Amino acid sequence: MARYTGPRCKLCRREGTKLYLKGEKCFTDKCAMERRPTPPGQHGQGQGRRKLSEYGVQLREKQKARRTYGVMEGQFARYFEKAAKQKQGVTGEILLQTLERRLDNIVYRMGLASSRAEARQLVRHNHFLVNGHRVNIPSFLVKPGDVVEVREASRQKPRFKEMGPITSRLVPAWLEVNPEALRGTVLRLPNRDEIDAPVQEQLIVEYYSR
Ligand code: SF4
Repeated sequence: MARYTGPRCKLCRREGTKLYLKGEKCFTDKCAMERRPTPPGQHGQGQGRRKLSEYGVQLREKQKARRTYGVMEGQFARYFEKAAKQKQGVTGEILLQTLERRLDNIVYRMGLASSRAEARQLVRHNHFLVNGHRVNIPSFLVKPGDVVEVREASRQKPRFKEMGPITSRLVPAWLEVNPEALRGTVLRLPNRDEIDAPVQEQLIVEYYSR
């Protein structure tokens, strides 16, 4: 399964905002956006002052969302296509809800991983059950009522045994987490104001509607 393996801080510098791709480092002064918030590359500083075209603004917004959730181009376009086909609801909001429903994002939101990239790896390594069944596909889409938990065998591994307390910073109201049981339940889909992704989804809709 394809995924981005290049330098992640560069992505934040390209988008000009913190995308929180590296876990705890993102909250320290080692964050590249704190130290050097200019676009990457030899002429990065000059690019920072360049005015973007309407298309450029839409493109950057799409890239920002894609990079925040660690989704490749084709998959992201398919998410949009499906969201646009929905008869009810706002396309941009449905798109963001779909991204939030990914299993790797749920594991991250539950506070069991410090970044979506780490959550993705934990899922790939077979550490999770969804409704009692082993699922190792990071793009698996959960739905309201689904229960996500760490597998019994994985609970004994140092990764989970020595894990600090789950940080409430990450757990949103639409998820219910039992920290002792390493289990979470999806109560409902998130409302737009509960999704903290730094994107203007309407610009993404405009990008795909050109
Ligand atoms: Fe982005 Fe985190 Fe790197 Fe800062 S440390 S630039 S927020 S990935």
